[in-house]
Amino acid sequence: MNYTFAYRRYSLPFRTPLRTAHGLWTRREGLLARLEHEDGGVGFGECAPIPWFGTETVAEAAHACATLGSRASDERIGEIDAARYPCLRFALGRAKLSAGLSFPEKHLPTAQPEASPYLPVAALLPAGRAALGKIAALAEAGFRTFKWKVGAGDMADELALLDDVCAALPAGARLRLDANGAWGRRDAERWLSRCVGYPVEFIEQPVAADAAGAEDLLLGLATDYPVPIALDESVVGAGDVGRWLEMDWPGIFVVKPSLLGDADGALKRLPKERTVFSSAIETGVGAKTALNMAFEFFADTEKPRALGFGVWPLFEDARFDGPRAAPFVRAEELEQFKPEILWNALN
Ligand code: MG
Repeated sequence: MNYTFAYRRYSLPFRTPLRTAHGLWTRREGLLARLEHEDGGVGFGECAPIPWFGTETVAEAAHACATLGSRASDERIGEIDAARYPCLRFALGRAKLSAGLSFPEKHLPTAQPEASPYLPVAALLPAGRAALGKIAALAEAGFRTFKWKVGAGDMADELALLDDVCAALPAGARLRLDANGAWGRRDAERWLSRCVGYPVEFIEQPVAADAAGAEDLLLGLATDYPVPIALDESVVGAGDVGRWLEMDWPGIFVVKPSLLGDADGALKRLPKERTVFSSAIETGVGAKTALNMAFEFFADTEKPRALGFGVWPLFEDARFDGPRAAPFVRAEELEQFKPEILWNALN
């Protein structure tokens, strides 16, 4: 199959800079890819790299796009190394798929199980004591899963706050703690013992993915404590998913579809009851893609875990936002997101 290929880079300032383990993040850089089928079908994909997660940079992705030129074939696209360019491969794979699906009479999609009309979304709480002031309104809005950043301040203060945060949660709510790799073994052990008996759904990435012996440490902690551990920074590309599955990882997998490269292959292997879909801070184009994949993934799952997509509004230019954070995201609301509009806005 042959396509006309084009791409447009973006650099979008955030409304408020995001705090990351690598300092303040002020602008989202990435690119949109457009593929036009020889019979007229058009599809878009978003390449939203996060280099400190081990993906390519935007400049590298753009260079690979320039090398591809204005004509692309399935073979040329297939030659882009998914391990080196996971985000670009993801973007082109999804653009190809949507270019094909835009002519359903010619490219019949395979039958999908009936998807749930909506999926729950986790509310994001600020780090530290500021979380306490946010919970009541979010609970009132209907959120039942809350994510609290930890490992950001003094450990004793944060440990002491856990009681207050849990006491403020509505009945039946669950709390996710995300340490973003901030702890060593001792600190992780203190938290894991402290959380026993609390409504903690899991602790996300207690130790850094690139710490010495991280894999053995994470596997050991997951075996020694009843509180589940989730891998986030440790599972970036499809290769990581395969590796942790082969190691019989007993905990949760947080997956950002936009970073997975060969997402379909990886998603087929993941256990539905232990998988959390999460945003890679995409624009509406990538958000629509990733959320549609989540609906497909959880189509026959009774109680899917809340999505980590409560991130928008994010951008100064609100046209680029994905669905605004709400306790549920509806499959039909995704249809409001028109990739072509954002493509044109980058002209
Ligand atoms: Mg995380």
